[in-house]
Amino acid sequence: MTTTLGLPEAIHACLFDLDGVVTRTAAVHAAVWKETFDAFLHARVGEPFRPFDADADYAEYVDGRPRADGVRTFLASRGIELPDGDPDDPPDARTVHGLGNRKNDLLLERIRTQGVEAYDGTLRYIEAARARGLRTAVVSASANTRDVLRSIGAEHLFEVRIDGVVAAERGLPGKPRPDTFLAAAHDLGVDPPGAAVFEDALAGMDAGRAGNFGYVVGVDRVGRTDALYAHGADVVVRDLDELRGQGGRA
Ligand SMILES: [Mg+2]
Repeated sequence: MTTTLGLPEAIHACLFDLDGVVTRTAAVHAAVWKETFDAFLHARVGEPFRPFDADADYAEYVDGRPRADGVRTFLASRGIELPDGDPDDPPDARTVHGLGNRKNDLLLERIRTQGVEAYDGTLRYIEAARARGLRTAVVSASANTRDVLRSIGAEHLFEVRIDGVVAAERGLPGKPRPDTFLAAAHDLGVDPPGAAVFEDALAGMDAGRAGNFGYVVGVDRVGRTDALYAHGADVVVRDLDELRGQGGRA
């Protein structure tokens, strides 16, 4: 079958970001980044304290990027440079990896205590896409992707998973570079023009555009529509149910 679910006819594969597209975890990420960065910024002796903005700073410098890249990019925006340190640095180390590990500890604690919720509209969309023969992959910077998918019972919905773990194994740079999406399309056996990218992050839009993908769907949960279009979205929806409603071909 070839019905297209609001996608151009040439699309044969759908590449989904995780946080904010499949799961309601984008706000949790923003909150624990804020806690992490504010503690760090507050402890800088002799510097005025300007807190991390969980909307603007998160969208511009952190969202969608690999953890260490997010730390570097945000700190650079404040003219701060830290040593990278070691990936195993303790969470109180004043290094890029130390801050990243602090954030991840906080995130895992939140997930453990509060659980993870899926966006039902996305799950319905993926099921409809698979029923119509479209190939599916999840593409996320998160090293926790597999556990998160398991916790919502959605692991089986994706034929291919390119996450933080796989990207590290293969040496793939993260979003805004297109490499992780390109790897997912490659593993599905689909050329980039035949694949659609579903993303809520500005860095994800940039990756979709840079990778020459056939269609880029911006998912706007927080009122970021104009920025998503500015970063290359072909269409912006609040929920994938809106796209699913455009199911048939004319
Ligand atoms: Mg996201």
